[in-house]
Amino acid sequence: MDIHEYQAKEILSGFGVAVPDGALAYSPEQAAYRARELGGDRWVVKAQVHAGGRGKAGGVKVCTSDIEINDVCEDLFGMKLVTHQTGPEGKGVYRVYVEAAVPIAREIYLGFVLDRTTQRVMIVASAEGGMEIEDISAERPDSIVRAVVEPAVGLREFQCRQIAFKLGIDAALVQPMVRTLQGAYRAFTELDATMVEINPLVITEDNRIIALDAKMTFDGNALFRHPQIAELRDKSQEDPRESRAADRGLSYVGLDGNIGCIVNGAGLAMATMDTIKLAGGEPANFLDIGGGATPERVAKAFRLVLSDRNVQAILVNIFAGINRCDWVAEGVVQALREVDVDVPVVVRLAGTNVEEGQKILAKSGLPIIRAKTLNEAAERAVGAWRNDLSQGVRMRAVS
Ligand code: GDP
Ligand code: MN
Repeated sequence: MDIHEYQAKEILSGFGVAVPDGALAYSPEQAAYRARELGGDRWVVKAQVHAGGRGKAGGVKVCTSDIEINDVCEDLFGMKLVTHQTGPEGKGVYRVYVEAAVPIAREIYLGFVLDRTTQRVMIVASAEGGMEIEDISAERPDSIVRAVVEPAVGLREFQCRQIAFKLGIDAALVQPMVRTLQGAYRAFTELDATMVEINPLVITEDNRIIALDAKMTFDGNALFRHPQIAELRDKSQEDPRESRAADRGLSYVGLDGNIGCIVNGAGLAMATMDTIKLAGGEPANFLDIGGGATPERVAKAFRLVLSDRNVQAILVNIFAGINRCDWVAEGVVQALREVDVDVPVVVRLAGTNVEEGQKILAKSGLPIIRAKTLNEAAERAVGAWRNDLSQGVRMRAVS
């Protein structure tokens, strides 16, 4: 789960990382008011979206008066900010963070990531801050400093000093740098983060080390241990299809194609998507209904898939072990009776209670296309979709 910059800064600040003075605003008037409260004569107004690259995209503006702040915010609020990380649809701006501007002498890149090869937390730093890490590794790979943290002993001071020296940090600033590194590392491990990125970490003209930007991502499976982090979730920044699914306890990833998939088990979902592609179609989503799915849950999954306006055919592929084919079939029938489904629905069932499941589908009298194997199911789904397309049946209204 991602959080906003201002939230990441508040967290890091609690772990001893220095951040600029700042305040959050939900409207242009509030932003101008916040700036007056902060004092000074230069502020940075920063759009809060779950994506980096805001600076280049016009989401970070230096202002020198409250009138200017107001004007900048009039443009920012409500816009869809498109950065190289958001995709073409962009992310909505509903909050801005106003900060006292900081006079920058140097910009450093600092990141904490999980390195799967060493199975350790890895610190990645570079004296080329301000640039994205992808660009740094492409253009100045020699500038990147890496350090792996041994979990049994944690991040040691000597490692931090080594990083500071490699970055060419003044002797007087080594101690604050050590504090910054250790603070960010503690935040990472204690809160089950999967990524902490401070880009840029700046050295100011008056020789202070400050996190000018901050990004944190958390392990969704560990959120139950950190309710105060789970609360920071901002649904306005998520794919609406995915947040609806998360609210219903379904594992869902939205994709760009038009064959909706309802499957049990992540492995089977992957195989189903592959088979759809092999049959010449494109999956619209990845949806894992999990084990022991009740008819209600299956019906929910149906409604979710149908709420995606790109879906023009649905493929249900269940290999029931813990699941029961009869429950899945009941769920399919229930959904088709409740929701106005006017796209072809292909169902392939195998495993526990498959005969009962087939009977329920057959008896329902609903136009469900049945298939025995996954190949057959994928071909039928793609075939039915093509056929609809050629007949000009494309869009549908879903209640
Ligand atoms: P990002 O583009 O989404 O990564 O947003 P950042 O928070 O990193 O801001 C982009 C750039 O704006 C930074 O790399 C800085 O160069 C500049 N910037 C941000 N805050 C300040 C500030 O307080 N003072 C100055 N002078 N520049 C700033
Ligand atoms: Mn940044």
